[in-house]
Amino acid sequence: MENIPSIIQAMLLDNILNTNDAIAVFGPNDAILFSNKTFAGLYDLSVNEVNGKLWQDCVKHSYINETGLKYDTDNIENWLHKANKLRRSEIQRTFEINTLKDRWYLCNETTNEQGYIVFHGIENTRSKQLEIELKNTTEKLTLLATTDPLTNLYNRRFFFMRLKDEINRYQRTDKFISVIMLDLDHFKQINDQYGHKGGDEVLVTFAKLIKKLIRPYDLAARMGGEEFAIILPNTNMHEGQMIAERIRQSLAKLTFKQISPDLKVTISIGGMTSNSELNASKFTLKSDNALYKAKNNGRNQVVWCK
Ligand code: GH3
Ligand code: MG
Ligand code: MG
Repeated sequence: MENIPSIIQAMLLDNILNTNDAIAVFGPNDAILFSNKTFAGLYDLSVNEVNGKLWQDCVKHSYINETGLKYDTDNIENWLHKANKLRRSEIQRTFEINTLKDRWYLCNETTNEQGYIVFHGIENTRSKQLEIELKNTTEKLTLLATTDPLTNLYNRRFFFMRLKDEINRYQRTDKFISVIMLDLDHFKQINDQYGHKGGDEVLVTFAKLIKKLIRPYDLAARMGGEEFAIILPNTNMHEGQMIAERIRQSLAKLTFKQISPDLKVTISIGGMTSNSELNASKFTLKSDNALYKAKNNGRNQVVWCK
């Protein structure tokens, strides 16, 4: 420093004091030995108020007064406990913080051997906003690409993706996967009698019924038109048949009063159980064959592929 002319030193210090970056130095006991305006602003305090204070007291001040930084916690002591474990855990530490006004800072802490910390935070609100927007857009696009907009069930493409994943997951295990294919009976007549809108309402109601009857780790999809399919992971034939029967009977019991006072709808179901030997298309082909038999045998029934 002594080689740097005093005028330059003054310029540098002026810059540090007035920059939009947040800069501070903490002592080994976390007393704030130096801070600039932007740093003090993170706690909604002035430089004079911050200097000499303990860092945790600045944190508590902003937490209690709900001003400055955002703390994702309802217990600030716990938050401080966790933060203190991380502070001084590495020589260089990088993390992000954000304020209640949603300004983001990318922060770097450098700790020396005596436990002093130099803190430097650079505002990165714009890039953080873009990152959040990108994440939201990706989520929306993924939803559009994988779900059926009418029923909110997964679509055919996602069904096959997941079935392949499940089969891979069960490779070299002795667990079973069951797949059921479901096709509403005489659905064309419902459309003819109650219009396309009436038909759509039946599809939506049926999708909700399925969701209610399956387990959280099962996956229901609308394969197209009035055809649905469900993957039942870790499910043997007996369990698969029980779930299929439960769906068939629940639908048969239902009256679609909102469409017509005594409208009843039935469904035919074909099922297949296997270990991971079968590939996804054979799996669905076999359950489709079983469904075909259920239709031919008179509908409103479950047939399992032997
Ligand atoms: P089956 O018992 O043999 O399955 O007879 P079905 O009448 O259900 O079968 P079919 O394949 O003859 O007719 C299916 C009907 O589903 C024809 C089509 O108009 C209707 N459909 C397909 N997609 C939709 C949709 O998104 N909304 C509505 N409302 N109807 C649809
Ligand atoms: Mg059909
Ligand atoms: Mg049908």
